[in-house]
Amino acid sequence: MRRTKILATLGPASWDAAGISRLVDAGADAFRLNFSHGTDEEHRALLRRVHALGHRGGREPAIVADLQGPKIRIGDLREPQYRLTDGSMWVLDTLGAVGDDHRASVSLPDLPHAARPGDPLLVGDGTIELVVESVEKEALVTRVVHGGVLSPHAGLFLPRARLRTEILGPKDRADLALALEEGVDFLALSFVRDAQDVLGVRRRLRGRPESSAVGLIAKIERAEALHNIEGILAASDGIMVARGDLGIEVPLERLATEQKRLVAQANAAGKFAIVATQMLLSMVSSPRPSRAEATDVANAVLDGADALMLSEESAVGHFPVEAVAWLDRIARATEVAMASGEVRARALTFAPSRLEESVAESAVRLASDARAAAIVTPTHSGRTARLIACRRPATPILALTSQRATRRQLALVWGVTSLDCPSHQSLLELRRSAQTAARKVVGARRGDRLVLTAGYPIEGRPTNLVTVMEVDGVRAPRRGPEERPRGARRGSGGPGQAAGAARA
Ligand code: PEP
Repeated sequence: MRRTKILATLGPASWDAAGISRLVDAGADAFRLNFSHGTDEEHRALLRRVHALGHRGGREPAIVADLQGPKIRIGDLREPQYRLTDGSMWVLDTLGAVGDDHRASVSLPDLPHAARPGDPLLVGDGTIELVVESVEKEALVTRVVHGGVLSPHAGLFLPRARLRTEILGPKDRADLALALEEGVDFLALSFVRDAQDVLGVRRRLRGRPESSAVGLIAKIERAEALHNIEGILAASDGIMVARGDLGIEVPLERLATEQKRLVAQANAAGKFAIVATQMLLSMVSSPRPSRAEATDVANAVLDGADALMLSEESAVGHFPVEAVAWLDRIARATEVAMASGEVRARALTFAPSRLEESVAESAVRLASDARAAAIVTPTHSGRTARLIACRRPATPILALTSQRATRRQLALVWGVTSLDCPSHQSLLELRRSAQTAARKVVGARRGDRLVLTAGYPIEGRPTNLVTVMEVDGVRAPRRGPEERPRGARRGSGGPGQAAGAARA
């Protein structure tokens, strides 16, 4: 059973019904729609296709709507490419005219207030570096520090931006409405600077009944966000280490350490972390990853990432299914090494600050000591399951919930298999459900131990109880092998396997 989740971006290479099904079969746990590309009609049709897929192989993929956010871009250029040379002057204005290698227009009406002389600016993938020489009424006059090839609509980055642009522009608000109307599980917010950006979107969602259960993912891609990460984590459901734009805002040589720090902070906060961008970029045109990519993916798993994301690889590449299959293979192999303990040992050093964290930690320790086949945790919002997961137990985690939104959102949380289960009225009822779930997912048999968390007394209590139970001899109705969900153990995987995993 793979513990690290896979988030695949859908695009022309994968977005027909057969393509989406193939990605699920290869191991995709969730899909991302990138609202920076495509039309309303395409997004609407795609969301409907993913919903029409429903369950497949016992899983129901979650959907992430990734909003473009306040990305600043230059406008049209007369030629498809220009080369800006070191030392030349280049003017950025707000006049809207078609540009060239002397000047270009920018999609930010307040541009002259956004920078001061001496401020650095970056263009495209960050290779073109400018410095502001002077500020005019409707323009910034810049000098090219490091030249490069300029294309129409290239991104413009203002690392010392002095303007607070809205986190959701008019396009984002329209995209958000469409996404909520069609039904998504998460909104990914681009260029988040601080907790206020996330809380502002939460406030906007509050009045809309269709958005009550939508999770918010803060994309960490601005240098500013790195300083405000604790507040951002507290305000969001999870973060995405968006290495594309983050790699422009922070020096590339610091990207790996920032990734490790962000993932560790998310783990410690009980929030999920997605590592994104260029994970298997060469697979856009090659059926196999490079050595460096395979190592990068493994390192993200070792860092403690909950989910790995594919962008171009699955959206426009020639080998979308192979890319998902390679993430699956590398993650599985790395998790075997992980079971030797390094990431888990780090996770277990979090000082629990609340009762619910102590309960989660106790469940993980008990599962290891008792060599349990599974940790079974009933959850309403998914929080208990997340707090257990961020401690990276070797024992499988089964989350029982009656909440469809929770079930779907746990698709991005490391190691959690979620099951539809009505709320229980007694501990006895919960024990029965736990056994049924453990038989179904990990093939637990009579005598196997399960660790169970619960709120007690049952009515409205937070999780405050951890117990060990043994699976009894009463079997749930038999299922044929073809009905057995992915990851269910049979044959090579007897109960000893789960117990063995707990021992490792
Ligand atoms: C990124 O910058 O890494 C990212 C995931 O965001 P986008 O694809 O929207 O640029």
